[in-house]
Amino acid sequence: ILVTGGCGYIGSHTTLALMAAGHEPVLLDNLCNSKQAVLGRIEAITGRAPRFYHADVRDQARLEQVLRDEQIEAVIHFAALKAVGESTRIPLDYYENNLTGTLVLLRAMKACNVRTLVFSSSATVYGDPASVPIREHFPRSATNPYGRSKLIIEQVLEDLQAAEPDWSMTLLRYFNPVGAHESGTMGEDPQGIPNNLMPFLTQVAIGRRERLSIFGNDYPTVDGTGVRDYIHVMDLAEGHVKALEHCHGKGGVHTYNLGTGKGYSVLQMVAAFSRACGHELPYHIDARRPGDIAECWADPAKAEQELGWQATRDLTSMCADSWRWQSSNPTGYEE
Ligand code: NAD
Ligand code: UDP
Repeated sequence: ILVTGGCGYIGSHTTLALMAAGHEPVLLDNLCNSKQAVLGRIEAITGRAPRFYHADVRDQARLEQVLRDEQIEAVIHFAALKAVGESTRIPLDYYENNLTGTLVLLRAMKACNVRTLVFSSSATVYGDPASVPIREHFPRSATNPYGRSKLIIEQVLEDLQAAEPDWSMTLLRYFNPVGAHESGTMGEDPQGIPNNLMPFLTQVAIGRRERLSIFGNDYPTVDGTGVRDYIHVMDLAEGHVKALEHCHGKGGVHTYNLGTGKGYSVLQMVAAFSRACGHELPYHIDARRPGDIAECWADPAKAEQELGWQATRDLTSMCADSWRWQSSNPTGYEE
């Protein structure tokens, strides 16, 4: 299984889940947002280092060489740029990396007769949903270049599959991935100031940031702060394995929400993380962040019925595992 973006946060955890299930992942990453040190951590956990190619998904010749040399049967495609705010400042870089990267990958797969793709999509393709929980048939829209890149790629995959029905395209729409591997040796390692709530909270807890800014407390939610469906990254990783095993070789477009079905507010997250780290976390209420929606959580029933997959780790484990990773690796994968 070729895992593009395999050194990143979700790709590296999915590599563990693939290896635990007896698959043989081959990682490809240009390391623009990750570190090669993760490979040693994977080896320490599994007893084996996965094969790794330091390469860019926009390099078609290199991709074809890897697909052939490694006799790849299926691709899980994580490689992308993912920061919403940044995507509004440098949209061309986002379209170039995410769209061109996927188009080149598809051309290489076609040339090498590999027809199974699992794609990292996002709940962002639902835009501001009319109601929650969100189901897979809800209308799609995008409010920023990052989200639009995901939406366009979904449509590209649908168009290609309609033209060439032997393709198996699986679109996995992630809700909010958090947490870390239970060992505390692998986790999320964002560069610079974190955009997302959980890595920001862990850095406040460790003393790297002074306090959390909560973006708005006047939403029509349980306590006025935004509500999201946080999912443990190892549950998400196992969802990829189930999706791959179910969809491999089955022509069609297979779309699944990967979420827990439960929503928690920012204040509930702060309280849960304070319990995990054992002290209060300073925060203040700030203005709403442009583009944020009030609430968003999944109806994960389709994945449960068709894939036999369900998230099993609760909010307490998500916070405990994030804290174990952050407190034992205060500077992430940096040596
Ligand atoms: P990440 O940045 O940790 O991982 C992405 C990896 O892809 C990085 O290791 C990066 O170096 C690599 N990469 C980027 N462009 C590349 C290129 N052109 N060629 C080769 N490698 C390249 O991000 P993540 O959180 O693990 O996200 C993985 C995927 O899941 C992304 O497609 C992201 O859009 C999607 N996603 C993430 C979230 C989230 O909250 N983390 C939510 C929904 C969807
Ligand atoms: N959030 C916040 N402060 C932060 C980061 C996030 O209050 O520093 C809130 C954000 O407004 C949203 C929730 O936390 O309600 C989750 O945001 P995140 O960026 O993690 O994920 P999103 O759902 O926006 O992709």
